[in-house]
Amino acid sequence: MPSASDSLNRWLGDEQLRRQAHGLQRNRLEVSNRAGCTVLVDGQKLINFSSNDYLGLAADPALADALSQACAQHGAGSGASALVSGFSSVHRQLEQQLADFLGTEAALLFPSGYQANLAIHTALAARGDCIVQDRLCHASLIDGARLSGARLLRYPHVDISALDRQLERSTAEHTLVVTDGVFSMDGDIAPLPELVEVCERHGAWLAVDDAHGVGVLGQGGQGSLSHLGVAASCVPVLVGTLGKAFGVSGAYVAGSAKLVDHLLNHARSYLYTTAMPPPLAAAGLAALQVIRNGKAQRQLLHDRIGYFKNGAAERGLVLLPSETPIQPLLIGEAPAALRVSQQLRDLGFLVVAIRPPTVPQGSSRLRITLSAVHEEEQIDQLLDGLLTCMNNR
Ligand SMILES: *Cc1c(COP(=O)(O)O)cnc(C)c1O
Repeated sequence: MPSASDSLNRWLGDEQLRRQAHGLQRNRLEVSNRAGCTVLVDGQKLINFSSNDYLGLAADPALADALSQACAQHGAGSGASALVSGFSSVHRQLEQQLADFLGTEAALLFPSGYQANLAIHTALAARGDCIVQDRLCHASLIDGARLSGARLLRYPHVDISALDRQLERSTAEHTLVVTDGVFSMDGDIAPLPELVEVCERHGAWLAVDDAHGVGVLGQGGQGSLSHLGVAASCVPVLVGTLGKAFGVSGAYVAGSAKLVDHLLNHARSYLYTTAMPPPLAAAGLAALQVIRNGKAQRQLLHDRIGYFKNGAAERGLVLLPSETPIQPLLIGEAPAALRVSQQLRDLGFLVVAIRPPTVPQGSSRLRITLSAVHEEEQIDQLLDGLLTCMNNR
């Protein structure tokens, strides 16, 4: 009798019960018929307010065309890691165009933002070094820091004086300071000019993960840096992803040619993984084209954000302060956030409850995300739904 597997199953069952008792069980929705901002879930049509597809590019025919053409030309897969034989002309082109767009010397493509974030930490810091992160940094940044073996310090959210004091005390040879550009669960923007100044003063290296800023913020869509008037040359390590506003998948690290060369030689999450499929790189190129010419879509998105915020204020709904498409409504305990999310679903809206450990204990929330393809009428309907659900809570 296999008693080891019995004991595993017992433990798995206990863990599952524990998650369920605390409102922390996670289940995947099976989504189909993605069209504009609506999705089909269990046969019910929902207006999706839980997507990072801020410009509606994921379903853009230009991306699908580029993808299928590249598929015919290069095949579906890259066939190897980038340093073996998986790197192609499409990858090169996308890297060059991303660097040109962002105003950096070079860029390096990764299959995912998670891997890009492991790379910057593990290739730039090791035992004896120090990594200092904002307390609300994305999980992939925390994991990168842990994997690097460097000492990890965290400063209270956007508290530059606390960071200043930590840097003052640090005796490490290399210190890497890391922040989200736009905080993924709160939607606020990091104080980048102040971060640049304090890092410069202490000789610390600054890395910004702009997953939710690129394509969305700045006149030309270059992201948080451009939005706050910070030159790309002031941020030595810039990460962005292609899975959010770009509507595709994958990520990049942008910076100097020496940075890129160092990462591709030393970052294990780059070296030991299959290169991004060429069709995705081609779709990334098409997305970049749309984003470069996307001033009108960005304006539309920001109009929708303003419309949502005004409507919330008129109805007395209090949101976390954010000027980005990420508009969180704080609920508190996880089971309550789940209940409100379910009520909204019954009304035809997909608004997922974000719970620990993604956010701190007691700060479970509805993370409402807006897109350029939402209609004002849909936003009005959501706001009325939110008001009803919050009152019935
Ligand atoms: C989504 C996200 C990532 C991870 O990117 P993937 O390409 O989805 O792996 C990294 N950082 C931040 C801030 C994110 O929001």
